[in-house]
Amino acid sequence: MDCIFCKIVEGSIPSTKVFENDRVLAFQDIQPAAPVHILIIPKKHIPTMNDVADEDNELIGELFAVARQIAKEQGIAEAGYRLVNNVNSDGGQVVYHLHIHLLGGKKLGALLA
Ligand code: 5GP
Ligand code: ZN
Repeated sequence: MDCIFCKIVEGSIPSTKVFENDRVLAFQDIQPAAPVHILIIPKKHIPTMNDVADEDNELIGELFAVARQIAKEQGIAEAGYRLVNNVNSDGGQVVYHLHIHLLGGKKLGALLA
């Protein structure tokens, strides 16, 4: 499996973990774009949001639940934060293992378009 995030899940590539359970892993982004920049991923290899099946809906909900919990733990929930999922080339996706970016800790710039 030539997927960098699967290797992070396996532990063959190191990461700074923020949260882990049997289904979900969250870790610090290696090139943070904000004071808080954490990636939340399913341990299961799902390439993009386009590949999410109905059977994965609970898992996707859990990714957002973990994001909410981490935002609280990081102390940014009230000030605010942004959750981002890039899909494919036009969406700016670089790593083809589904992930949600949790960004915060500063006033974020306008992003739409
Ligand atoms: P994408 O553009 O696919 O939505 O975002 C991929 C993210 O993964 C980028 O923010 C990038 O900095 C991060 N990233 C890429 N390779 C690694 C890595 O080996 N370790 C960690 N922690 N983050 C990575
Ligand atoms: Zn993967």
